[in-house]
Amino acid sequence: MITDRVSARGSGRREVLLAGAEKFGTPCYVYFADRIRKRIDTVRDALGGRFGISYAVKSNPNMGLIDRIRDRCVTLDVSSIGEVERCLAIGASASDLTFSGPAKREEELARAVEVGVGEMVCESVQEAFLLDRLAGEAGKVMNVLIRINPKRSPKQFGVNMSGKPSQFGVDEEEMPRAIEAILGMRHLRLIGFHIYSGTNSLSVEAISENFSIFIDLFSRFSEMYELVPEKLVFGSGFGVPYHDGDDPLDLPALARRLNDQIDAMKQNPRLARAALALEMGRYLIAPEGFLLTRVIRNKSSRGTTICLCDAGFNNHLAACGMMGTIIRRNWPIENVSSTDAASSKEYTLVGPLCTTIDILASDIELPETNDGDLLAIGSSGAYGHTASPARFISHPEPREILAIEHGGSVEFVDVSESPRTPDYASVISRD
Ligand SMILES: *Cc1c(COP(=O)(O)O)cnc(C)c1O
Repeated sequence: MITDRVSARGSGRREVLLAGAEKFGTPCYVYFADRIRKRIDTVRDALGGRFGISYAVKSNPNMGLIDRIRDRCVTLDVSSIGEVERCLAIGASASDLTFSGPAKREEELARAVEVGVGEMVCESVQEAFLLDRLAGEAGKVMNVLIRINPKRSPKQFGVNMSGKPSQFGVDEEEMPRAIEAILGMRHLRLIGFHIYSGTNSLSVEAISENFSIFIDLFSRFSEMYELVPEKLVFGSGFGVPYHDGDDPLDLPALARRLNDQIDAMKQNPRLARAALALEMGRYLIAPEGFLLTRVIRNKSSRGTTICLCDAGFNNHLAACGMMGTIIRRNWPIENVSSTDAASSKEYTLVGPLCTTIDILASDIELPETNDGDLLAIGSSGAYGHTASPARFISHPEPREILAIEHGGSVEFVDVSESPRTPDYASVISRD
């Protein structure tokens, strides 16, 4: 581990990125850890503390990063036993973990029972039966939430899982059967419901409408079975801007709507006392993460200037348009080395891979970009390194760095995990 305080001339983001690339080389992910902490506080405060924040570990499972933010989150939502182990390795308590995910294997469920995961999010009745048996064998009782797959969710979600056949959750139509079955399981304690049915929405209207659907389902099933849930999880769906023309989510406006909806929900005595969790990843992390890549060299081909960069889809699948998007659109990319907008030209940016699909941006407008220039791909804190096929073509894996700003200087903490086995205990130095 390298912990280094570097004085960055000026305290702007640009200076920090330049200093980071200088020190750690490229490609390299830089996460502005304290700005992420601030985002978590901002969301929680905008919602008046009605929700605890549950961090979706899959969005960025870097242990050093999680360790830096976990005191801000009531729970960490994990989707595999590997993520459980990562959280335990940094000292998180198993009771603060919630375990969702569609194809949990028997060994995973058994390990979750063994370590005492706080809340199991059951995605099917069959999974609940298996968990009940394993808990029984271990002489334990596990807290479970049923994940509901709603019949509908609003449009304007980048990703939408409702209303069609889905591996996620129990179909709304099947819920009565599932609740009855789970209530009969002696080693499970049904403590509430969970819904995560879509994500990456920038629309106040759509998110608010989605929350009404959640609240309606939560109340309906609580009333039908005279339940008083202790816990309700709202898969937030909060999105971040990735492309030109996307406006960031209007958090104050959204919070006004959601706060009213939640206050109205709490008029229902069955739901009044439930602890509420807002489960999210990208909204918290994405905007404060950057992938730094250098232009190895420029070439001109049939009238197009192509910048050959040292990072491609092996390092950032999503920026290359390969994570669920139909049409590839350019991500926010800036030339950190040059801010001379007057010289701006159109470039095609490609990565180092021997395939025609390794395109970071096409016809992107940048200041004159030369060999050796440093480029920063924004909105990259979530679903970046973790969601990329890093082994393809055997280039070195990007380092992952936390940048912690202290006035005019910045502290860099190298939290890279691979390909080296990290010393988990020393991932972060606290002083
Ligand atoms: C992926 C996931 C999330 C986080 O989604 P974001 O778009 O990163 O906010 C939350 N909950 C569950 C169950 C997930 O699978």
